[in-house]
Amino acid sequence: MYVVATPLGNRQDMTLRALAVLRAVDLVACEDKRHSQRLFDSHGLTPHTYALHEHNEQEGATRIIERLTQGQHVAFVSDAGTPAVSDPGARLVARVQEAGFPVIPVPGPCAAIAALSASGLNTARFQFVGFLPSKSSARRSALEDLRGLDAALVFYEAPHRVRECIEDLAAVLETTREVVVCRELTKMFEQIVRMPLADAPAWIAADPNHERGEFVILVGARPATEGIPPEAQRVLKILLPEVP
Ligand code: SAM
Repeated sequence: MYVVATPLGNRQDMTLRALAVLRAVDLVACEDKRHSQRLFDSHGLTPHTYALHEHNEQEGATRIIERLTQGQHVAFVSDAGTPAVSDPGARLVARVQEAGFPVIPVPGPCAAIAALSASGLNTARFQFVGFLPSKSSARRSALEDLRGLDAALVFYEAPHRVRECIEDLAAVLETTREVVVCRELTKMFEQIVRMPLADAPAWIAADPNHERGEFVILVGARPATEGIPPEAQRVLKILLPEVP
């Protein structure tokens, strides 16, 4: 079974290998058949499709394993980007592997990686968080847990929550950290803006367009402690979480 990444918005972001695989397989399992059909149409692909989403993933896995057992080749695509990354697919992959069939990734677009690549942040270490909880109290508590981590943080966020998410980021994390708001990646209104976290709530409130579209929000790693003597670093580690 092939796990195939598909474009985030710009339909030309299909790899040659993804096109070849989708052309060759007997069945393409899609998170949303109608959504993927538009992509297939724009590339002249006419695959047999099967709907496999988070609500039928186990039953869908059984159907796909039946096909693989018959010697057929199957691909799986989610609506956009890389399947199984904040998307269905992980349970399907595990079931297919447990049934003894190889799972072959066909890599391509991924919103988190696209955002990191154009962020200008130090990406030596990053923590992919995906979607934070929707309630502010749970979101702030999740951020408290991430605060001490020595890594850049990668969040996915829905447009209707982006403003409160940024307000909570600024309330919980050190406001001297950089934030990069990546909006509508690969699409017509793509926007990538880097600023200190302290400035982000005012930026998002400044223009209603800043809250429109799809978002990856990155927060840079905590300020470097390189060159600071070990004892001072130890004291800083204790004190920094208390500093606004
Ligand atoms: N599996 C996909 C991936 O990693 O590329 C992500 C799927 S997740 C259900 C959808 C979220 O990914 C959106 O809410 C948004 O946070 C992010 N995303 C997807 N496409 C995007 C784009 N074009 N620009 C910015 N963020 C995007």
